[in-house]
Amino acid sequence: MFEWIGFDADDTLWKNSEYYLAAREEFIKITQKYGLSAGDIDRFDDFEIENIQYYGYGVMSFILSMIEIAIEHTQGEITSLDIQHLVQIGKNMLSKDVEVYDGIEELLNDLSIRYPLILITKGDLFHQQRKIKSSGLKNFFKSVEIVSEKSPAVYSDILDRHAINPDRFLMVGNSLRSDILPVLDLGGITIHFANHLTWSHEAKSPKELPLDRYQEVKRIEDVLEAVKKFEGSGLR
Ligand SMILES: [Mg+2]
Repeated sequence: MFEWIGFDADDTLWKNSEYYLAAREEFIKITQKYGLSAGDIDRFDDFEIENIQYYGYGVMSFILSMIEIAIEHTQGEITSLDIQHLVQIGKNMLSKDVEVYDGIEELLNDLSIRYPLILITKGDLFHQQRKIKSSGLKNFFKSVEIVSEKSPAVYSDILDRHAINPDRFLMVGNSLRSDILPVLDLGGITIHFANHLTWSHEAKSPKELPLDRYQEVKRIEDVLEAVKKFEGSGLR
């Protein structure tokens, strides 16, 4: 039986990865004239993941990684104007209005009548707060948690603070690594919203998934069906 439902935000409630892919295209355009090879650009993911320990997740980490890789691979040849251009790409990402997926408002409206909802998102505090405000979805949630990492310990701490039993918690999110596996580890129930390509760092391959507590859906409309399926299976 579950009593609370958690939602991830980026790429679950609203668009996110598309902006990173578009920014990367701009990065390639700017750096191509310095002879950066496709291999150098392919290393970008590794570089950014390595930098998480210093900068955490989010646009600021992404931009600092772009600047670092550009300086390193041009042996310092990149001009300050081009660096300014990279910084501007980041500012554009940070100030963009949120594009909530079609069907999300209806889904949250429906579920929030029956369950307390909690938003659990990771990344830059300031940017996440801005996106939550811009989305217009804040009032559907009883609580909002912005964290720097989504590990079992972090989930455990959040659930403890709200006096939620892990096995009475259902989490919905697009990332196996951040939204699904840690919650399954704690004994919770999960709906994996496998909506599109996920950043390689988040697309961790699953070990054996407990199928009685895990459901994959491809469309927003199917999330409600999956919730009902869990309700019908005695987990509710
Ligand atoms: Mg996400």
